[in-house]
Amino acid sequence: MSATASAAPAAPASVTVPPLNLPAAYAELREELSAELLAVAASGMYVMGAKVTAFEDALRAYCGCKHALGVSSGTDALLVAMMALNIGPGDEVIVPTFTFFGTAGTVSRLGATPVFVDVEPDTYNVNVAQLAAKITPRTKAVIPVHLYGQLADMDALLAVARPRGIPVIEDACQAIGATERADGGRMAGCFGEFASLSFYPTKNLGAMGDAGALLCNDDALHETARLLRTHGENPRYYHRLIGGNFRLDAIQAAVLTIKLRRLEAWTAARRERAATYTHLFVEARLAPEVIRTPVERRGRHTYHQYVIRAPRRDELTKHLTARGIGWGVYYPLPLHRQDCFANLGYQAGQFPVAEQAALEVLALPMYPELTEVQQRAVVEAIRAFYHA
Ligand SMILES: *Cc1c(COP(=O)(O)O)cnc(C)c1O
Repeated sequence: MSATASAAPAAPASVTVPPLNLPAAYAELREELSAELLAVAASGMYVMGAKVTAFEDALRAYCGCKHALGVSSGTDALLVAMMALNIGPGDEVIVPTFTFFGTAGTVSRLGATPVFVDVEPDTYNVNVAQLAAKITPRTKAVIPVHLYGQLADMDALLAVARPRGIPVIEDACQAIGATERADGGRMAGCFGEFASLSFYPTKNLGAMGDAGALLCNDDALHETARLLRTHGENPRYYHRLIGGNFRLDAIQAAVLTIKLRRLEAWTAARRERAATYTHLFVEARLAPEVIRTPVERRGRHTYHQYVIRAPRRDELTKHLTARGIGWGVYYPLPLHRQDCFANLGYQAGQFPVAEQAALEVLALPMYPELTEVQQRAVVEAIRAFYHA
């Protein structure tokens, strides 16, 4: 044990740290939420309606984008965006290989072809130079993902996409509230034609079930997306387009409207906890000696996840589980190596940065309710593994 590490007060071995603590977030808002949930129950208006419109208005104002459409999930937001852009068989959509499955699965569901590219080694966001090299006349959209809560390199990406007239769909499912500068500027969702947000319960703004939103900065595309959300109908039972049921429930909108007011405070709390982790890792001589802590390269990182790079990661996770410390691996297999995309003909080793990341990334418990005692227990458990 190093002198520096032993100077830090050791956390009691009995401290357990769950990977998430969703009931705590509910407890904080219990009275406000309960009243709203009962009001929706009594109203009889369960799908769409005034609660959804009110949430869309609040969300649009918060994000600073032109339009916001409440939809059934983040995945469906991506799907509706591509349907509005008429993407289908014969079209290509460029996506990073290191992301949640939905980013690329939605492309395939429309009969189009996801074209994978590698990511940057420090932010895990799309490598824009590689993306530029993959553009063909069939490229109908590009989907940068703001992974873990940090913006992709949107200046570079827009410089590639705009002159070629290629629509940009931001996958902002993990990045609500991320801004281009530490002190503000444009928010995630304001750069492209479209942006998807997810309100899956574990996201920074979480519903009590599935929910999402489609942000849009173009009037005509927004109107098309709005029709597609409800089977392309206007007026009712007259269908101009073939859409689907991508509607948002009133109960989710009511919950999200209340929680949105807390989001800035929660983001600040996440950022404080990220700074604490990084400080503790340096103090324990784990960073930069053994592990790598997250970098903040572009603007305000919202720390949807606090992700370290850890050698011998899979052994480390067993050690953490044994000590009651939660963790997550996002993601263990890049998309170009997934069985369902085998027909696309990608090879192992083709995207070395993503493949190495898949072996090393480790997300630590990160939520506004996380205490410093718990954070010390996490760091102490990792120190005990490497400096045994
Ligand atoms: C969560 C997530 C999605 C999908 O959101 P759902 O609401 O779960 O459908 C898409 N992309 C990324 C990067 C995500 O993290």
